[in-house]
Amino acid sequence: MRRMTVRKSLVHGRGVFALQAIPAGQRIFECRGEVTSWRRASARYRRSGLPGHTFIFGLADGRVIDGSVGGNSARWLNHSCEPNCEAIEDERGRVFIETLGDVMPGDELFITYGLATDEALTPELAAAYSCHCGARWCNGSMLALANR
Ligand SMILES: [Zn+2]
Repeated sequence: MRRMTVRKSLVHGRGVFALQAIPAGQRIFECRGEVTSWRRASARYRRSGLPGHTFIFGLADGRVIDGSVGGNSARWLNHSCEPNCEAIEDERGRVFIETLGDVMPGDELFITYGLATDEALTPELAAAYSCHCGARWCNGSMLALANR
């Protein structure tokens, strides 16, 4: 039985939803895509003109996975400041999505993107990565706190 599906999200565009209850700490899928630099990925999005920032996840070393290139349905995961999933990078650089808490059928799955940027935070950049997740502790941005 499929555990997840992709459908329209109330938060942003499309999202990933649980079809069945998933306990905390479960590895639910791999996050595929091209591993590249944040600079390259964000330049690619700027050129495309798409509000496609939701396809990029930050890795521990500062690089990103760009789900728009060879990505799977993990690319539809939306960002939340209070996520119910997290991206775990293994020692070989593969990234897996694991549940942080118990997930109920119908819940949308969220991760924190953890995007670190060394670009100057222009009003355009801030607007492109503003967060509307609705969490109580929403910090208003998808960019990693340390780099703002
Ligand atoms: Zn938020």
